[in-house]
Amino acid sequence: MSLIEAFTTRQLRILDTLIPNPHQLSPENLRRARLLVGILFYAFTLNILLIAVRYQNTGWSTATINALFSQFIYLGLLLTYKLSKNLNLISDAAIALALVSISITIYSDGGLTSRATYWLPVFPLVSQSIAYHMKAGVTVSLIISLLFSTYLLHGEGILHQAENQQVLFARALTLTMATLFVAIVSVIYDNGRKALEKQLTIEKENAEQAFKLKSEFLATMSHELRTPFNGVLGMLELLSNSQLSDQQQHRVHLAKSSAQSLLMLINDILDFSKIEAGKQDIEAIDFDAQMLFGDIAEAMAYQASSKNIEIVLDTHQLQQPSFKGDPNRIRQITTNLISNAIKFTKVGTVLVTVESQPDANGSTLQVSVQDSGIGIPKEKLDILFQSFTQVDASTSRKYGGSGLGLAIAKRLCQLMGGDIQVTSKEGIGSTFSFTVSLNNPDHAADDHTHEKITGNIVIVDDNPIALSTIKNQLSADCHHITALTQADEALTHLTNNPDNALIFIDMNMPTTNGIELIKAIQNNQTPIKGKLILMSDISNLDGNTLLQEMGVSLNIPKPITHKDLKKALALTQTSLLENTEQPANKPDQIPTDLTLYKSEIHILVVDDNPINLEVAAALLDSFDIQPVLASSAHEAFKILSSHPKKDFIHGIIMDCQMPTMDGFEATQAIRNGLAGNSYINIPIIALTANAMKGDKERCLAAGMNDYLTKPINIDKLVTVIHSIVIPGIEPKH
Ligand code: ADP
Repeated sequence: MSLIEAFTTRQLRILDTLIPNPHQLSPENLRRARLLVGILFYAFTLNILLIAVRYQNTGWSTATINALFSQFIYLGLLLTYKLSKNLNLISDAAIALALVSISITIYSDGGLTSRATYWLPVFPLVSQSIAYHMKAGVTVSLIISLLFSTYLLHGEGILHQAENQQVLFARALTLTMATLFVAIVSVIYDNGRKALEKQLTIEKENAEQAFKLKSEFLATMSHELRTPFNGVLGMLELLSNSQLSDQQQHRVHLAKSSAQSLLMLINDILDFSKIEAGKQDIEAIDFDAQMLFGDIAEAMAYQASSKNIEIVLDTHQLQQPSFKGDPNRIRQITTNLISNAIKFTKVGTVLVTVESQPDANGSTLQVSVQDSGIGIPKEKLDILFQSFTQVDASTSRKYGGSGLGLAIAKRLCQLMGGDIQVTSKEGIGSTFSFTVSLNNPDHAADDHTHEKITGNIVIVDDNPIALSTIKNQLSADCHHITALTQADEALTHLTNNPDNALIFIDMNMPTTNGIELIKAIQNNQTPIKGKLILMSDISNLDGNTLLQEMGVSLNIPKPITHKDLKKALALTQTSLLENTEQPANKPDQIPTDLTLYKSEIHILVVDDNPINLEVAAALLDSFDIQPVLASSAHEAFKILSSHPKKDFIHGIIMDCQMPTMDGFEATQAIRNGLAGNSYINIPIIALTANAMKGDKERCLAAGMNDYLTKPINIDKLVTVIHSIVIPGIEPKH
């Protein structure tokens, strides 16, 4: 920035403080306001000089008092503008006062016969013209020389001698100065405006350029990193399913888990950049919240049980079963918080509480994850949600992680109209809570409400958090619940109150475990009535036949979900059993049983990368699906055209980025009948390494039926085949 630009920009900042609400003015009005305020401000400043000179020369003469009076007018106009905020009013008033001043000058100079009548009206025109054409550098030199000559004229005693000729000269000089004054102020503001505009344009261009580069970099990296990963993970998956020695199996396991951590890291970085680039899609679909959080808690339970930590899920404050929003992003945030809670906890419980509050637009969902872990120092709480921050440098060495999870979580919450907070005490534990705004679902899920249970329910669990949560979850269905923490206490209670509807027993209890308590109940002298429900560790669900022989009616895995409790409650109402076993809305269920169609499904995989072709072929093969491989769109057309019967190929997995003809063009060609009429409507699943906003829409717009990202996730592949390819096949009998 040049010196003049810096000078004018600084002046603008000072003068903007005199303008009421400058940010609310249009650029044109802001310019006018700056011009007006600038003229008044400089007139005020220079008038001080005038008063001083006049006072020194003539004392309190009429001229000095006039100048003092002008000072009040300038100040009055500035103050009125600040208070009235009316730019037009003040501009009109300033012009009116200027005209009055011109008229008085003409009058005192001899009335209508005055020569001033010829040149005074030129004053505004000349100022405007100079303001328009004059360069700022010239203006500054002019003002300096004018001030200098005024000083000299005063020094020579010319300005204050009241001789006619000199008076006229003095007036002409004053007016020239005033004219230049307006011009200079105009030029200064014009320069300031231009400087600001130039600066803004440069910044805007830079930002646009950086944004473009970032997006391009992101798309390229996404593709480049994920493509080889498809090969690495796929091959490791296949290797681990083959015959290996224990040592080889162990090595493959280590390689797989390292590859998975690296993939998670890549995904985190991509996610973060996607959000930063504003390319994160937030979906709005109906979902069942009980099912979603039940699935999340169950999925995390394996990780927790390997550290002997119990996850407890409390959803009893959910006011409605389903909502409309983005379940995958909610899953991502919750999974991250639970995973951190498990990671930073040695012993104890991770309590996940889900609540909803109806509001004007639908509901606010609040999810809290409370742990009994190492906690976070108070001074670090503020920085946690910044990217790449961990509580201390040793965290990543000891616990792993990138320090991006919470930053992503915060941005996702904000994208969904909510936020995330944390409270924590070192050595005691932390609670992370987030909120998101959700809409009401288009189709409300059927909650299969039960009739109230009239009998007693007894719950035995040594973990007080789990115990009170299960009690709360059941309280809407039953009013007679007894919660006990010890097996011997439970046995005494049951002996005294032998008539019960349901008895929930925790498997893992100290001194007397669940099985021992069940045996004691069965062998009790006073017969104890009630369906026995064993709550066991998720990794230990085998042996159901044995349990049935022991009289256990139901064996449910911990964490206890809404679905499990419904199953248990249904034991008391056998007529509802069928409904409860088959919940109406099961969006996340992954069908893995494709054996019904064994070897009947043929899927054409089109990908230019030979490793990816091999991986896809092996994955399909492991599900007894027959892969047909093509390394380009042209080869795919050849295969399809040489087998015109639709039954030959049932679906196509199509890579999007391929040389010569990409997946989008190939799909459009198939839809236009280029591969034969019998394949016009064949299911096509896109396979792409990019996971950018708009990719899905692009695939769907090209005529593809669904979308998979690399590296291929087996469960998703099976789900897509199940939902898209299988409905079009007639099973052979
Ligand atoms: P990371 O991938 O490193 O876990 P996060 O953004 O998820 O990244 O977490 C940032 C840091 O916040 C962690 O490294 C850890 O120091 C701290 N932190 C997060 N959750 C917890 C928790 N439940 N208990 C203690 N510290 C936590």
